[in-house]
Amino acid sequence: MAQRMLFPISVVGSWSRPPWLVQALRRRQAGEISSAEFHRIADDAALAAIKYQEDAGVDIVTDGEVRRDNFYSFVVEKISGMKLMKVSELLDYMKDRAAFEEILRALDVPAFAIKSPIAVAKLRARGGLTLDEFDFLKEHTARQTKIPLPGPYLLTRSSWFEGLSDTAYPTREDLATDVVQILRDEVVALRARGVDFIQFDEPSLSQVVYGDEAEQTFMCAALGSRRDPSDELEFAVELMNRTVEGISGVKFGVHVCRGNWSRKEEVLLRGNYGPLLPYLMRMQVDQLVLEMATPRAGELEVFKEYRNEKEIGVGVVNPRTDEVEDPHAIVQRVKEMLRFFDPERITLNPDCGFGTFAERCVNTPEIAYRKLKAIRAAAESLRREYGH
Ligand SMILES: [Zn+2]
Repeated sequence: MAQRMLFPISVVGSWSRPPWLVQALRRRQAGEISSAEFHRIADDAALAAIKYQEDAGVDIVTDGEVRRDNFYSFVVEKISGMKLMKVSELLDYMKDRAAFEEILRALDVPAFAIKSPIAVAKLRARGGLTLDEFDFLKEHTARQTKIPLPGPYLLTRSSWFEGLSDTAYPTREDLATDVVQILRDEVVALRARGVDFIQFDEPSLSQVVYGDEAEQTFMCAALGSRRDPSDELEFAVELMNRTVEGISGVKFGVHVCRGNWSRKEEVLLRGNYGPLLPYLMRMQVDQLVLEMATPRAGELEVFKEYRNEKEIGVGVVNPRTDEVEDPHAIVQRVKEMLRFFDPERITLNPDCGFGTFAERCVNTPEIAYRKLKAIRAAAESLRREYGH
C-alpha cells in the first residue's frame, strides 16, 4: 500500500546537527569520550531527526546521518586503512599549495573544518559501514527506510591521494576494486536487514562536469590529476554497475547535486543535467535523486529524451535558504517534471541535506522541518489531483 502511494516524500543528506552533537563528535575524535558515550548522545539526535521527519510527513525516512562527521568521512571509523585528514593537512601534499588555498578561499570552503578519509593502507571493513545506523533507524520507525552511502566513485576519488595512498594502492583503479567490494558487501547486508532504499551519493560528478580546471573543489582529493571528464564519468558508471550488479530486492538511487557546503549560491557549481544524463541513465539504479529547486540546476527540457527511463527524486526545496517554499510553487515545479515522468515515478525531496558538514550546517532544524511540511502540503495536493 505505502509503496504505491503517489509522490512519496524522502530526504537527502544529513539533518541539521545540534551544537551538543557537534561537540560530542569533536570530543570523541579527541578521545575525550568513548564511542559508546558518543552513540548514547547521537541516539538522541537520531531520534529527534526521525521524529522531525515523521511529524512533517516524510514517507521514506533516514536517521539524519547524525552520527557522521560528513556524508562520506564517517567510513574512516568503519574501514581500517583509512585516515581522516583535514583539507588543511592535505595542503602539505599538494603540488601547488598557494593556488589551492586561493581556490578554497574563493569557494568559501573552510579547509580546517572539512575532512576527507584517505586510504593509507589496504582497506578492510570492520563489520559494516551503516548497519548500526540502520538497526537503530529500523527499531525506531515503522515507515520505509533509506540509507545513504557514499558512492563508489566519490569514495575512490576522494580517498586516493598521491603520496599517501600509492604504497597500498599504486593506482585509483586498484583502490576502486576494494571500494566496490566493501560497498557490495554493505548493500547485501542492508538488504538482508530489510532496508527499502539505498542511495549512493555522488556529488563529485557535478565537479567533473561543471567545475573548470581551476575549480578543483575539496570534494575531489585527486587534485592536479584531473582526467578527461568523459573518462571520469565512464569510470563512475562502471564502478556503480560493478557495485550493484546482480543485486535485487532493494531500491537503488544515485544522488547528484552541485555542492552544499555554503549558503552563498554564487560559489556553488551551476549547469543543467544534460551532460550528466547519458551517464546517469546507464547506471543500473532505479532512481535519480536530483537537486532541482535551485535555479543552478538549469532547465528541465534536458529530460525530454529520457522520458520515464528511470524514477526521479525531484529536489523541490532549497536546504540553504531561510525562506520556506510555497507549496503551490512546489506543485508547479513538479508539474514541469510531469511532462517527462509519470506520477508513479516521482519522489519528492529537498535538494540536498540541511547539515552536510558537521560544523557548517546550512540550516536550522526548525526551518528544515517547515520546508518538509511544505513538501507534504504539495504532495497532498498532487495526490488529490493525480490519484486514481
Ligand atoms: Zn547533495
